[in-house]
Amino acid sequence: MDIIYLVYGLSFLVMGVVIVVRHEDDSRLELAGILWLLATFGFIHGLHEWMDLWRVVRGGSPALAAAQPVVLLVSYLPLFEFGRRLTRASLPDGRVRRSLGIGLYGPVLAGVFAGTLLSEQPMLAMDIWSRYLIGFTATLLTGIGFCWSDHSRALAGGAAREIRRVRLAAHAAGIAFLAYALFGGLIVPAAPWGPAAIVNQDSWLAAVHLPVQFFRALCAAVVAASVTVLLEVFHLEAMQRLRTEVFERRRSEIEQRLIAVRLQLVLDTSAEGIIGVDNGGRVTFANRAATDPLGWRSADTPRGMPIPDVLGHHLSNGRPCSDNDEECGIHSTLADGKTRRVANETFLGNNAMARPVEYVIAPLVIDGEIAGAVIAFHDITDRIRSESALARSNAELEQFAYAVSHDLRQPLRMVHSYLQLLERHLAETIDEDGRGFIDFASDGAARMDRMLVALLEYSRVGHTGEPMAVLDSREALEEALWFLSPAIGDAAAEITVAGDWPSIHAGQNDMVRLFQNLIGNAVKYRLDDHPPRIVVSVAAGRGEWVFSVRDDGIGIDPTQIDRLFRVFSRLHGRDRYDGSGVGLAVCRKIVERHGGRIWVESEGEGKGSVFHFTLPMSDATPSGHDEEGATP
Ligand code: ADP
Repeated sequence: MDIIYLVYGLSFLVMGVVIVVRHEDDSRLELAGILWLLATFGFIHGLHEWMDLWRVVRGGSPALAAAQPVVLLVSYLPLFEFGRRLTRASLPDGRVRRSLGIGLYGPVLAGVFAGTLLSEQPMLAMDIWSRYLIGFTATLLTGIGFCWSDHSRALAGGAAREIRRVRLAAHAAGIAFLAYALFGGLIVPAAPWGPAAIVNQDSWLAAVHLPVQFFRALCAAVVAASVTVLLEVFHLEAMQRLRTEVFERRRSEIEQRLIAVRLQLVLDTSAEGIIGVDNGGRVTFANRAATDPLGWRSADTPRGMPIPDVLGHHLSNGRPCSDNDEECGIHSTLADGKTRRVANETFLGNNAMARPVEYVIAPLVIDGEIAGAVIAFHDITDRIRSESALARSNAELEQFAYAVSHDLRQPLRMVHSYLQLLERHLAETIDEDGRGFIDFASDGAARMDRMLVALLEYSRVGHTGEPMAVLDSREALEEALWFLSPAIGDAAAEITVAGDWPSIHAGQNDMVRLFQNLIGNAVKYRLDDHPPRIVVSVAAGRGEWVFSVRDDGIGIDPTQIDRLFRVFSRLHGRDRYDGSGVGLAVCRKIVERHGGRIWVESEGEGKGSVFHFTLPMSDATPSGHDEEGATP
């Protein structure tokens, strides 16, 4: 018997030690979190068996007899908790799983204490009821838990042989615990009451001729061996994790390399010069489109150099840009993290060849900190050349139009005067037809003169020497309304002014003429059946002010809208509405000169029209005229 108890106790103690030594803190397996309970059971239960060994070798004592049932009870508790948690983890959510809650302890412990207190031999009763109620349930749950739970799931993709071995070890431990439930939980010490009076260790010995402790020790040895093998699961899991990490790292390395290659390709194929700088303003990378025109031998040469030296950067006023230059866009972006577009500065590069450039600088922000910036630039020499050629030819064209219209008026006036003289000279002799012919000729000359005057007006837009200034848009409107007051009065027009009228950067006369033309048309092209109602308003758009003149007049055929802003383009007959067809062309020229757009909307003839134009917002503040009012 002493050998049996030695092996029996030793097996559980070894199991406890092995678990403590090989336990993995990093594991994600359910088992890892509860193994300490099994180890605790191993230590206490092993101790209990060695108490039996002591009793067999050195003889029993009252103290030992009193301590043993308590140690037995205490040893079963961690196993009970282990089995409960292991089985719960392997069950799907449902009634059975819920029945294995913490409430299970209530009836089990109550049964043990009631059995103990009601018995005349309380220590023996505690031993027997602990085995029946706690030991049996604990070993049963542990056995079921080991058989059901599949720890090899965490090893998906691992070697099949190792997975099989872990699974086999779990099943062996499970079966050993189930057998232990029978030998340790149901074959109890003999007692004169209950099932223990019939099925007990003595009746077993009489029937089988081998003490039940032998079978328990066998179960303990199998449990210890299979748990030792099962613990390999942690090693396999760690290997598996390592493999996944290596795989992930390789994949991210490949992705990084791909991004780097793509980036390099973008840099190599870009026609823009691209240069990266760190937050100290030193070059970190550059592409060939940047270094070639700047006269650097290779894209790598400027790396680490201060950016003003690499660019040979000169500001638009011609001053060379130094490190930490307050006026330099690059320095400003590195300081405040704002993206900037800068035009008309000059890069001299390494070869001292001045190039006017336009560049965009965008900050590189990492975790809220400015880590550097990227500059993309291009040479605008050609653009400047073609812009000035265009400006020259426009100026020549306008000069030509002015000269032609101005100079043509002189001979036209002569034609007109001589026609009048001719009419007077022939007054006695000329018949009705002749007079009609002379009238037609005079009328044509007068019309042509009006057209030349209009053309003169058109060609002089932007050439009157009027400076652009910050002005109150509402004042320009009021002045236009004052000029138009006779026409407004004749037509009994009702004019409503709405919106928050802003300060704008414009030419005063241009603005007055713009409002005058648009509101004058709204009054002129009215319907006969009611006095015109006109609304002039302004609203804020995206970075621009949108001004509108809405009327309820004769409207415009939507198919004709495109040609409305051309010179001499008229949609309505001269017999009904007087005019030269230049007013809207003048409006367009004024608006475009101020960097805005003009367009018209109409739902069709008879349905009124709305003319809109935009002007860029300047830094000037709104003028404060925000009331709605009517001007008679
Ligand atoms: P004009 O008024 O001298 O003919 P404009 O250039 O000012 O020349 O206008 C061109 C044409 O656009 C006009 O002849 C008219 O047919 C049309 N038009 C302009 N404003 C309006 C309006 N408010 N309602 C309807 N038609 C308009």
